[in-house]
Amino acid sequence: MVATIKLNDQTSIPQLGFGTYLVPPEETADIVGQALQVGYRHIDTAQMYGNEEGVGQAIARSQIPREDLYVTSKLSTGNHRPDDVRRSFDETLAKLGLEQLDLFLIHWPLPTLYDGDYVSTWKAVTGLVADGRLRTAGVSNFEPAHLDRIISETGLAPAVNQIEAHPYFANNTAREASRRHGVAVEAWGPLGQGAALQDEEIAKIAAAHGKSVSQIILRWHIQRGDIVFPKTMRRERMTENFQLFDFSLTPEQVQAIDALDRGEEGRVGPHPDTFAYLPD
Ligand code: NAD
Repeated sequence: MVATIKLNDQTSIPQLGFGTYLVPPEETADIVGQALQVGYRHIDTAQMYGNEEGVGQAIARSQIPREDLYVTSKLSTGNHRPDDVRRSFDETLAKLGLEQLDLFLIHWPLPTLYDGDYVSTWKAVTGLVADGRLRTAGVSNFEPAHLDRIISETGLAPAVNQIEAHPYFANNTAREASRRHGVAVEAWGPLGQGAALQDEEIAKIAAAHGKSVSQIILRWHIQRGDIVFPKTMRRERMTENFQLFDFSLTPEQVQAIDALDRGEEGRVGPHPDTFAYLPD
């Protein structure tokens, strides 16, 4: 049974989902279909992944009732202007075959682009909630200063902040800033995009529980109270990663994994202050 987390807009999100970054568009309907068969009900996609249509096909084929599914997408870095937010959000809904999306995130703050104005982008995203086409508005890769700014200038806090976090980069500064504002944390790259899977310390904890290293890392995230959606193309790993709620780490085991944090050196993705990628 997957736990749920109550968000600051009173909606609930499954704490465990399935990630789709780098799932090739032509394979997405099959891969996400398998994840739904395994039991995942929360899917994380993005305009920039190019695979929203495949996610939509998997959802349609599954015949799972809409209210049992939780679907997230994210605004492309090329669509930050308010008109583009609304236009591209309509395209996202059409590709997913949904009338309403559960969660839509500003994928990156891009403080060095668009004259540093991510506040009007945030206002446009919150406007989608007012329209009823979006249930919950959130952000991704927002550093403490970015969060402070959108909240102080609009009075509207995002429900979630999706940020890089894993044992080698705990990202506690951005996590704690999010929590202070009542913003739930989603940990992207929860396995360090694979980097943390060879860790010897975690392997010892895994042996003690008779679990895999991946399960131990994901359970650590769960006990930190964060939301995770590991990605894999392999069904046996989907099944493994789905089994996180029948065991617990001891406080000592949690602390041993906390101690693996390498700070900025452990970061595998770009820094949000300088990331400035725009798709063609
Ligand atoms: P991840 O940490 O989930 O790692 C994925 C890698 O781990 C893959 O190579 C996979 O083969 C391997 N793996 C997964 N389960 C395994 C298992 N049980 N045993 C052995 N290997 C296993 O990395 P990710 O995909 O980058 O992150 C998860 C999701 O987060 C993405 O799919 C995407 O939905 C989201 N994400 C968001 C952002 C953002 O900027 N908001 C950035 C990256 C990822």
